[in-house]
Amino acid sequence: MDLRFTPEQERFRGELRAWIAANLARPWDAEVRDPKHDADSLVEVRRAWQQKLHAAGYLGMGFPPEWGGRGASAIEEAILHEELYRADAPQVPNFLGISLLAPALIHHGTEAQRRRFIPRILDGSEIWCQGFSEPGAGSDLASLRTRAVPDGEDFRIHGQKVWTTFGPWADWIFVLARSDPDDRYGGISFFLVPLDQPGVEMRGIRQITGETEFGEVFFDGALAKREHVVGRPGEGWKIAMTVLGYERGASALQYPAENDRYLAGLAGGLRERDALGREDVRERLGRLHVENEVMRGNGLRVLATLATGQAPGPESSIEKIFWSEYAKRLMDTAHELLGPQALLAARSPRSRPDVDWAYQYLWSRAGTIYSGSSEVQRNIIAKRVLRMPTR
Ligand SMILES: Cc1cc2nc3c(=O)[nH]c(=O)nc-3n(C[C@H](O)[C@H](O)[C@H](O)COP(=O)(O)OP(=O)(O)OC[C@H]3O[C@@H](n4cnc5c(N)ncnc54)[C@H](O)[C@@H]3O)c2cc1C
Repeated sequence: MDLRFTPEQERFRGELRAWIAANLARPWDAEVRDPKHDADSLVEVRRAWQQKLHAAGYLGMGFPPEWGGRGASAIEEAILHEELYRADAPQVPNFLGISLLAPALIHHGTEAQRRRFIPRILDGSEIWCQGFSEPGAGSDLASLRTRAVPDGEDFRIHGQKVWTTFGPWADWIFVLARSDPDDRYGGISFFLVPLDQPGVEMRGIRQITGETEFGEVFFDGALAKREHVVGRPGEGWKIAMTVLGYERGASALQYPAENDRYLAGLAGGLRERDALGREDVRERLGRLHVENEVMRGNGLRVLATLATGQAPGPESSIEKIFWSEYAKRLMDTAHELLGPQALLAARSPRSRPDVDWAYQYLWSRAGTIYSGSSEVQRNIIAKRVLRMPTR
């Protein structure tokens, strides 16, 4: 395994870094702390950033050129995410459309669907959210009960989705719904549904962080047109697996880059408290640094696999479990070492530490749940990587 980047990849990184320095007005953290912003205006900051990235050709880089991409490699995409995280750039609002739906349309959609949806996904004019989870179907997604009832050529959707990230700002939702009640996997279909129509109600859910980035969606006869079914009716499970493969494999280099910022912030905070020389503190910081490098190495290993044309296998569960559990350990350690002051560093214009520790502590809980909880990842590793017997 070769851990070095090629000269072309390094050149790409250099150009990108210069572009970010010239185009990013200020880091996301500064936007969030600006008292003039509210939740809606922050979404507009993110939308404007998405438009800039798109105009510069940095979005959907791995897509084929006819779909606005450059046919870039997974390594270049990973470098892009690494540099964006390093600079604390805003996350684009259409991250679910770009990273999950567009690849699903490229793999399974019709030409007409790609032409209709992908350009608007990339330029941010239509924001997407993901309607998979339900109150009774999360880890066991195939238990989903939302129904798609035929109505002439089209379908009517009835049921409820929950934990819908970015739902309150989305224009469209991609929905898994049951078109055949008697076939557990083969009865699920994949629908593209506009949210602004009768029969759809989106309610915001306030999260532990205080934000309302989630929604829950109630469908009561919402129209899903036949031309907006992806794949054939009954192929939804297969398409959902494509989507989940992209969701779990996305991390490679971005989390280590983000952690570098947190570790530097933690070291800075401890220096201010004259605690950096303490042996126990140095040992715990050193351990976190080493684990972050392990994560980077593991990410590079996944990228090396992708570079040979192979898809990421169940080993990506190891990566997922590592970065998500690490984030909790890092934030727990920061709170133990910084003490109560870490809790005072809430998102307020009056307190301006390098890292908003209280917010990041609360947010770090989420990673071990979405894209498959840590328990579910352990099951996958036991069965499909270690091939352990099931009872
Ligand atoms: C930040 C965030 C964003 C999300 N965004 C979206 C989104 O945009 N769209 C969407 O559709 N969903 C989204 N989700 C939902 C997410 O996919 C589910 O929360 C997740 O799949 C777990 O499902 P659940 O919450 O129903 O928990 P459950 O499946 O009910 O699990 C409860 C507990 O039981 C454990 N458990 C379950 N099954 C097993 C098993 N077989 N073996 C061992 N332990 C088990 C779990 O690990 C967990 O601890 C999001 C979740 C979070 C936290």
